[in-house]
Amino acid sequence: MATIVLHKASGKRYILLGTGYGAYKATRPGLIGGDLFPNEEQDEIPAASVCDEFGTIQWLYTNELQVVEVDGKSIGEYGEKLIVQKKPQKKESYEQYEACPACYVKVLSKQVECHSCGLTLVIQE
Ligand SMILES: [Zn+2]
Repeated sequence: MATIVLHKASGKRYILLGTGYGAYKATRPGLIGGDLFPNEEQDEIPAASVCDEFGTIQWLYTNELQVVEVDGKSIGEYGEKLIVQKKPQKKESYEQYEACPACYVKVLSKQVECHSCGLTLVIQE
């Protein structure tokens, strides 16, 4: 199945075909010796081959792209799976009540002291 990428600058969507490195080599004449000692610059840039709705293949820099859909699912649907070791969120409920063990008055479970008898309450994790 396809991976759909968004070209951030143009807002155009493409099908991602593959990734690789775009190499460039620029040569300009050196100050001394001219073409005898040219300055050469070369580097590799992460690039992705994509194709548009007409099937035209293009190479775009990966830092200009954003994946929006994989196998028919939007990236948002993968959200939870992409977050590493997300601790289960403790449900914070404001309506959790307990009975004070001394006077049995209704107290909030996160209350540290009973408002009726003044007993120090143990907060249960
Ligand atoms: Zn109490």
